[in-house]
Amino acid sequence: MIRRVAVFGATGSIGTSALDVIARHPQRLRASVLAAGSNVSALIALCATHRPDHAVIADPSGLTALRSGLRAAGLATQAHAGMAALDALAVDAEACDTVVAAIVGAAGLDSTLAALRAGKRVLLANKESLVLAGDLMMRAAREAGAVIVPIDSEHNAIHQCLPADGDRSGVARIVLTASGGPFRGRDRAALAEVTPAQAVAHPKWSMGPKISVDSATLMNKGLELIEAHHLFATPSERLDVLVHPQSLVHSLVEFIDGSTLAQLGLPDMRTALAVGLGSPERIASGVSGLDLLQHGRLDFEAPDTDTFPCLALARAALIAGGTAPALLNAANEVAVSAFLQGRIRFLAIPALVEHVLAALPTLPADSLDVLRDADAQARRAAGQAIDSGVVH
Ligand code: NDP
Ligand code: MG
Repeated sequence: MIRRVAVFGATGSIGTSALDVIARHPQRLRASVLAAGSNVSALIALCATHRPDHAVIADPSGLTALRSGLRAAGLATQAHAGMAALDALAVDAEACDTVVAAIVGAAGLDSTLAALRAGKRVLLANKESLVLAGDLMMRAAREAGAVIVPIDSEHNAIHQCLPADGDRSGVARIVLTASGGPFRGRDRAALAEVTPAQAVAHPKWSMGPKISVDSATLMNKGLELIEAHHLFATPSERLDVLVHPQSLVHSLVEFIDGSTLAQLGLPDMRTALAVGLGSPERIASGVSGLDLLQHGRLDFEAPDTDTFPCLALARAALIAGGTAPALLNAANEVAVSAFLQGRIRFLAIPALVEHVLAALPTLPADSLDVLRDADAQARRAAGQAIDSGVVH
């Protein structure tokens, strides 16, 4: 049976990589739903190439342009708008059996949760949803029998190394690798004046702007610790981070017998996406194999949490639990967006996250409403701190 794949965040870095892999396997895979945030023209162009049944633009003001663009291109693709349409297509059995969750930020939570509740196969790139509501998402997946394939390269690597039967009793430690980002080796003074253009220029991975900034602050690795905690039911004390600048070893699992398994490959997200799209079989992704002779060496070093405090802030939020990760994530989203707009400096990103976590209480996270409320409060507190110049 052909897998019908909904790509949420189709116009983004992960979305286009997913479509690249899908297009290589017309006998096996079909892009049945494509969704974007507000970029109508890019969405129409993707529809012309992939001919999905449905196209969704989250921003409702884009519907007229989407509809007329699809008609002008002679496509039978149905046009939809708004986040509710996304949720409806995520659960629709006709529309898709697989969902690539590749929207950036907490905006991806509802559609991802909807897909999980409907028992879909979810290729999860949208790490912010897990940070915000990991317990609820994992429970929803268990209850509905949904399969989650982690797409984040580290988690996809761990997924490949762990026993497929879900038995974690032999696992001693999970080690997430980190490239260190564009500012690895610098001290705080050297980071005072860095620009958004410098921060998004990642040395190894080509990614969207938000995750690129997260990689530069090391918040990305912090979010990934929380992501790993949920995906692999592993406590903070058995999750470690190792900086590996070549980005060839994508993560490692250490077992109690002294064995360590790692997954290696070129830094190209199409490998992880092919694992999710093809599984249980291996399918071609367009990524070449790894020539270790050509690369020559693999280096490892400890992360510098003094210069990059976001990693320690995220670790503390993971240990605190409750609403703390939701507060951390929301404050970080506001901070990264303000930094990209030139409104705050790079070093204000960790300062703002720390400010919000100190200003708001951490509550037990026993419902989605509590988490959404924490998210909204953190966004408000972060916005006020920027507007009032408390953090700049
Ligand atoms: P991009 O910024 O490249 O793409 C984001 C996508 O989300 C775009 O299609 C965008 O649409 C869409 N979008 C944005 N806001 C909304 C919204 N409110 N509603 C619906 N759609 C929206 O991001 P990436 O592809 O880099 O990252 C996507 C996710 O994957 C993130 O959570 C990131 O952390 C994760 N990830 C990414 C990796 C990578 O290599 N890029 C690696 C590991 C994880 P539009 O174009 O219209 O704005
Ligand atoms: Mg990653």
